[in-house]
Amino acid sequence: MWKDEEVSAIYGREVARQQRVLRMIPSENIMSEGVRAALGGVFCNKYAEGYPSKRYYQGQENNDALERLAQARACALFGAEHANVQSYSGSPANMAAYMAVCEPGDRIMGLGLNSGGHLTHGWKVNFSGKLYEPHRIEVEEGTERLNYDKIAEMAREVKPKVLFIGTTSYSRVLDFKRFREIADEVGAYLVTDIAHVAGLVVAGAYPNPVPYADIVTMTSHKTLRGPRGGMILCREKLAQAVDRAVFPGIQGGPHMNQVMALAVALGEAARPSFRAYGQQVVKNAQCLADHLTRLGLRIVSGGTDCHMMVVDLRAKNVDGKTAATALEKSGIVCNFNAIPYDPNPPRRPSGIRLGTPCLTSRGFKEDEMAKVASWIVRILDDPENAELQAKTASEIEAFLKNYPVSPVID
Ligand SMILES: *Cc1c(COP(=O)(O)O)cnc(C)c1O
Repeated sequence: MWKDEEVSAIYGREVARQQRVLRMIPSENIMSEGVRAALGGVFCNKYAEGYPSKRYYQGQENNDALERLAQARACALFGAEHANVQSYSGSPANMAAYMAVCEPGDRIMGLGLNSGGHLTHGWKVNFSGKLYEPHRIEVEEGTERLNYDKIAEMAREVKPKVLFIGTTSYSRVLDFKRFREIADEVGAYLVTDIAHVAGLVVAGAYPNPVPYADIVTMTSHKTLRGPRGGMILCREKLAQAVDRAVFPGIQGGPHMNQVMALAVALGEAARPSFRAYGQQVVKNAQCLADHLTRLGLRIVSGGTDCHMMVVDLRAKNVDGKTAATALEKSGIVCNFNAIPYDPNPPRRPSGIRLGTPCLTSRGFKEDEMAKVASWIVRILDDPENAELQAKTASEIEAFLKNYPVSPVID
């Protein structure tokens, strides 16, 4: 491929790995050929500090047109008043949201990690937990779901400047309207982080927070199936604060090749086939959860409303780390994950997290999910059996030969 043989060799092995295994990490997806071509295009050669018509370098006519197109597509897809498409990724998008509405030292409320939140929602070693005063929302111990009355009570006590609400491992829909009411009651801003579910929102398979939130942040590379990057939507009255927080508050020049790829991805997401994709992602996750439950595993909170689930492995007497390692040897790639109120330590928690965005991009439907569930359980029932792992890995490799490696965009 390239003249650089050392890099080529590694690249070739990664191409083969991605083709050969069931990729079940819920934050990953498969970009289309169009999105990847945009990332490698000549916009990567150009600086564009500033915003359309307000740049700090010359030669911007195409950058301006491109950025405005990406913004217009984002606003149309999500029903938003303003879009900032320059965030390098989800974490800096979240940093910009904080900077737009609060000052260091202000109180913030977000979900704890074991309850499904992200480290940028106030985790102690992250900037969000160091610069601001974090207060953690946890799911209830029995139901493993959010209790909105308790959250309202906590908000009345804490009086946060910001409710920062989003999930990486909470499988139930969030009640954005209720969060708006809670924020209004205590005079807080509501920021919602839909990094994981953005594509499902576009597909109508998950509620859209845009009517309720002051600011909505997201990544573009998860269910939205765009380039690695971030995006921020907000009300017009916060547009200037958000834009200033991104540049010059946090970043210098935007990655215009990434902005081009985002525009392409948003164009793909506006097509009917993407709606079908997002709906199928959720159907597949629900189907997988049902099969796993039937085969003796417990899904945290009892099931899923979205693209992912956390599986409690204690019934199989295997910890998450051992399970994730055994599954990888068998051609199934996922991540170990804590369950709410996990009795085991973070490096060896009680669960794994499974998602369906990649498999659905390869064309998997309900029939395939039944097979996936049986492969997973076969390995978890006998996690030390190296022979079984090797046999399963080759079975999966052969099976995957019949599925496209890139999503079909029609
Ligand atoms: C993935 C994720 C992020 C961070 O995105 P990066 O692009 O990895 O920085 C932020 N918030 C949530 C809820 C996420 O799931």
